[in-house]
Amino acid sequence: TKWVYNFGAGEAEGHAEIKDLLGNKGANLAEMASIGLPVPPGFTLTTEVCSHFEQTGSYPQDLKEQVQKALQILESRAGCKFGDSENPLLVSVRSGARARMPGMMDTVLNVGLNAKTVEALAEQSDDRRFAFDSYRRFIQMYADIVLGVDACHFEKMLQRAKQKRGVKQDHELQVEDLERLVRDYKTRVFVELGEEFPTDPQVQLWGAIGAVFKSWTNPRAKTYRELHDIPEEGGTAANVQAMVFGNMGHDSASGVAFTRNPSNGDNHFYGEFLLNAQGEDVVAGIRTPSELTMQARMAHGNNSPSLEEKMPKVFRELMAIRDQLEKHYKDVQDIEFTIQKGKLYMLQTRSGKRTTQAAIQIAVDMTNEGLITKQQAVMRLHPSQIDQLLHPTIAENAKKQIIAKGLPASPGAAIGKVVFCADEAVQRVSDGEKVILVRNETSPDDIHGLHAAEGVLTTRGGMTSHAAVVARSMGRPCVAGAGHLEIDEAAGKLKIGDLVLEKGDKLSIDGSTGEVLLGEVPTVLPKVTGAFRTLMSWADEYRTMQVRANAETKADAILAKDFGAEGIGLVRTEHMFFAGMRITAMRQMILASDTKDRKDALHRLLFMQREDITELFQIMDGQPVTIRLFDPPLHEFLPNTEAELSYVARAAGVPVERVRRRATELREFNPMLGHRGCRLAITYPEICEMQARAIFGAAAEAGRTSPSKKTPVAEVMVPLVATLEEFKIIKGIIDKTAAAVQKEENVNFTYRVGTMIELPRAALQAGKLAEEAEFFSFGTNDLTQTTYGLSRDDTGTFMSDYKAKGIMAQDPFVTLDEEGVGELIKVAMNRGLSTRPDMKMGICGEHGGDPTSIDFCQRTGLNYVSCSPYRVPIARLAAAQSAL
Ligand code: PEP
Ligand code: MG
Repeated sequence: TKWVYNFGAGEAEGHAEIKDLLGNKGANLAEMASIGLPVPPGFTLTTEVCSHFEQTGSYPQDLKEQVQKALQILESRAGCKFGDSENPLLVSVRSGARARMPGMMDTVLNVGLNAKTVEALAEQSDDRRFAFDSYRRFIQMYADIVLGVDACHFEKMLQRAKQKRGVKQDHELQVEDLERLVRDYKTRVFVELGEEFPTDPQVQLWGAIGAVFKSWTNPRAKTYRELHDIPEEGGTAANVQAMVFGNMGHDSASGVAFTRNPSNGDNHFYGEFLLNAQGEDVVAGIRTPSELTMQARMAHGNNSPSLEEKMPKVFRELMAIRDQLEKHYKDVQDIEFTIQKGKLYMLQTRSGKRTTQAAIQIAVDMTNEGLITKQQAVMRLHPSQIDQLLHPTIAENAKKQIIAKGLPASPGAAIGKVVFCADEAVQRVSDGEKVILVRNETSPDDIHGLHAAEGVLTTRGGMTSHAAVVARSMGRPCVAGAGHLEIDEAAGKLKIGDLVLEKGDKLSIDGSTGEVLLGEVPTVLPKVTGAFRTLMSWADEYRTMQVRANAETKADAILAKDFGAEGIGLVRTEHMFFAGMRITAMRQMILASDTKDRKDALHRLLFMQREDITELFQIMDGQPVTIRLFDPPLHEFLPNTEAELSYVARAAGVPVERVRRRATELREFNPMLGHRGCRLAITYPEICEMQARAIFGAAAEAGRTSPSKKTPVAEVMVPLVATLEEFKIIKGIIDKTAAAVQKEENVNFTYRVGTMIELPRAALQAGKLAEEAEFFSFGTNDLTQTTYGLSRDDTGTFMSDYKAKGIMAQDPFVTLDEEGVGELIKVAMNRGLSTRPDMKMGICGEHGGDPTSIDFCQRTGLNYVSCSPYRVPIARLAAAQSAL
């Protein structure tokens, strides 16, 4: 087996396509080397070595030999020798799995340093201070990561050395200080472990390789994989690469960049660098870095010179590489580079993580630039990413008190209570609060807090700092590097000049502008405009399924239409009566003990219902609107408190006792399987008649008043049908009422009466139901509930166990269970279509907005999906992708 792949000097044994084997970093290093970019030479130990190591506890037999050979090639490419006392090769050993797990696994730099080679390094670099600083860093890193000596020992010693010298910054230490530190560090290692710090470069190398492979299973990495659905198998690769130094003086630097702006997608080179620093220093956000381009420096009002100004030649070279990478990968790249004594080296490239807004802008721009096709653009986003765009932003005319400004690191508005630590963020969120995590900087140990928080605010670090990168990938708004803030964590205070905020005080942040705002600022919902609109219109070109919305309020219908819904697939009429006084009318109707009382209550409901539906017809203006008859499991409407009972009694003018008795009578043991759905219309036909009157009256009214003056096609839908007989009775009432309204109002309209398929029996009897039903709508919430015999309201207690034990991969109420529920849907479709070949069928359960379930709907041949308004754009994109 080939365990080791070489790269460097314009050639490579690997390439970008074998990420499984070489990991993301290794594969892309190979790719960059082979297209001639300046990559320091090196080699990659494959992920298979990691798996072998994990399974057997040892390395493959021939690995040593392969590594020694690779090391020889590396030495000849780099022109120096590992462990040589005159011209030593130093290497980095970096982890790199197939999936990105930023900062979760280990890396060791400067491997190969010892008392001899450090002298050679000092000689070669002509900088003794630099050499010993590297040596100090190496011992600290190696002891911590490979030998397991607590890093705090070294931090303390470093602190003490600075105190002694009377300085604040690491780089102010003198050579003598560093030489002493190196000795003290080694002694500490001996004290802690009872053995010497390894001086043999070969021992160091294998130690580092082992640590990298072991870090695949460290708890941090495991948690990260769990959070991001990354499989446990696979392992990491280990990349051994010649060291280059960004900290070799003021003609050296390290930087990170995105080939385009990952926050808003602008086609501007976007990144940061630190003079005289190693890469880790940039990412850790400990010093605030400088901009790459002059333009960005001006835009951010930053005074320290940009790379463009400081090193124009290197900058031009970097710009050329930027173009070459984008043309080659046809995507935005996230790169790391080092400049050693004026020479540029590329250390990493990978597909750049970006916000949804940026992803859309970039996909559209790249299509217009001819880099990718429209289809590719449509496929570029995962539909669920769109969710990020549908979050609120700060209202334009909002009164706001800006108390600080940082960098706009991840867009969107977030409002919450100030907390200073990740654990507290998680705690408060689980208590139902919303929080903003405020920190000087964040590290991988804060992941859970970032995840829980509404947004993140840091006082240090740039656009590519840990907080910024993670926030963007999680879709959390982030303001980074707001330098005027001062956190006093111990006192639980946040100071901004004279203003002092306490932990728990409310704060708003605007990740699109970088503003930090006092208190709670009003927000608005986004609109589908610009590149978003363009991309959605391209999606619509490929989409074959219709997308409708589930909506019953005017606001929801307008939103749905704005988001591109092509009709309403489900109006839950009982939901129109949840609010305010209306619920009393609804309760009166439900609690009426005789037909007369019920008719009185219904009469009141009729007018409200007719008005509401008219509005929906007007908004949808000719597009189909599917109105479902009452379906409330009664418990949703029964009064619960004495106050509610007496309220209903008073409104109906009946004694409270009577209402109480009736409410008791109506209580059910199992309301979801009780007197609900079409069973209500069967026992109380007057309810069905009232609703039909409201619907058809509204159709007539909308025909006179809606913008196009077209009489809408009303689709009336019957819920929870199990038998043809139920459906026939109800359809009879609807037809009779339709005829009556047509006559009374002197109009003609077409309407359709269809059924929901929500019970296994209905699915099986679909052939018969189709004799009468003119359309089917799959109510997959109830169909899942009844197919699994699983209460849709009570899965919380055991669903996580079911997932953990692998019984269910996903919650079937979120992603459609294709094997069971899906099978019933297919059966129902086949049987329905054989009776009525032109029958329209759609889905209106929650699954209608879930991309995976939408793909099933496309494959199965449904005509439309209907989902909540916020998911309409997601559904449009998902449907387009499934059609492609
Ligand atoms: C369903 O059951 O899938 C459905 C759409 O109806 P509801 O959620 O209102 O029961
Ligand atoms: Mg239902």
